[in-house]
Amino acid sequence: MSYHADEKGYYGEFGGAFIPEMLYPNCEELRQNYIQIMEEPSFKEEFQQLLKDYVGRPTPLYFAKRLSEKYNTKIYLKREDLCHTGAHKVNNTIGQILMAKKLGKNRIIAETGAGQHGVATATVCALMGIQCVVYMGEIDIARQAPNVARMKMLGAEVRAAKSGSKTLKDATNEAIRDWINNPVDTHYIIGSVVGPHPYPDMVARFQSVISEEIKRQLMENEGRENPDYVVACVGGGSNAAGAFYHYLDTPEVGIIAVEAAGKGIHSGESAATSALGKVGIIHGSKTLLMQTPDGQITEPYSISAGLDYPGVGPMHAHLYKSGRGEFISITDDEAMKAGLELCKLEGIIPAIESSHALAIFEDRKFKKDDVVVVNLSGRGDKDLQNYIDYFNL
Ligand SMILES: *Cc1c(COP(=O)(O)O)cnc(C)c1O
Repeated sequence: MSYHADEKGYYGEFGGAFIPEMLYPNCEELRQNYIQIMEEPSFKEEFQQLLKDYVGRPTPLYFAKRLSEKYNTKIYLKREDLCHTGAHKVNNTIGQILMAKKLGKNRIIAETGAGQHGVATATVCALMGIQCVVYMGEIDIARQAPNVARMKMLGAEVRAAKSGSKTLKDATNEAIRDWINNPVDTHYIIGSVVGPHPYPDMVARFQSVISEEIKRQLMENEGRENPDYVVACVGGGSNAAGAFYHYLDTPEVGIIAVEAAGKGIHSGESAATSALGKVGIIHGSKTLLMQTPDGQITEPYSISAGLDYPGVGPMHAHLYKSGRGEFISITDDEAMKAGLELCKLEGIIPAIESSHALAIFEDRKFKKDDVVVVNLSGRGDKDLQNYIDYFNL
């Protein structure tokens, strides 16, 4: 059994492409070309070069000595926080901008919630001199002023989505509408392993550089490619997909996915999709999502904007359903505490998303000799105000 997507984009029962008729040509063009383009030597070369010289890869695999001593196991941190723009998201946007160029597209659209994906997209559009339009909910624009400013400085146009709840899902609807109206010249950069096939598989492949590097780096440090466990937080699931990718079909490596429980799984303010989700369709793919009994999507909640998503990518839904992945939910309080602990023990201020992954060590115990790799998806600069408010700093 493989935990990778099949050619129709299915992970077990999850995935596929559930899209309106009008969007079919756009997705089909991408589906027919993405693997072939990714395998072209000229594509690989340019992708590798940019990851190295622009993003700053390989990111270090750092043995966290003091954290390991505290939890009595061997903890390594994969330092995606050291990527240009401060998180893993740029691995995917670099890949997709090169894909767009190969497909002859000269205009990029994206949707963004908290603004991190919008910034990563605006960044690569500036790099390539390509027009960039980012859709963002009107409420999110007000809440995320620094990221809106970043996108503007990078030359992107930020368009407000004014319908519905004026947040991420409305921005997504606007982006899809734009794509339907501009099928020839525009590429839509989706920011996680979500959306219709081939997006989840394509984004996972771009992010898979993370586990490719972990294998090499662990070999240098531990004399073996495989850790006992690899741990990552899951919003849509792209940093996790990248960290798990080369271990998916290696059963001796334990996979631990960490979701945001917000104020508690059953508090009504949560984003713990595996615990609360039911099978449904969101953004063009069949997956687990939080919904009411009559199928309305429930508003998710987490202190961390990047995990505040009502679904998970189909890869993760399958990892959960099949039992291949162990899923742990972490509350706001547990995450904030773990974030501050990393600051004190290792001198690293993590993104609150990543703090969720770090928080598992409080309850989930490992053996002394276990090698546990935690994907540190991003740095905490963007979350400073949140940390200040929470801890009264
Ligand atoms: C966006 C983001 C996430 C969540 O997105 P995934 O697709 O689940 O990886 C996690 N960490 C950071 C730092 C982010 O910016």
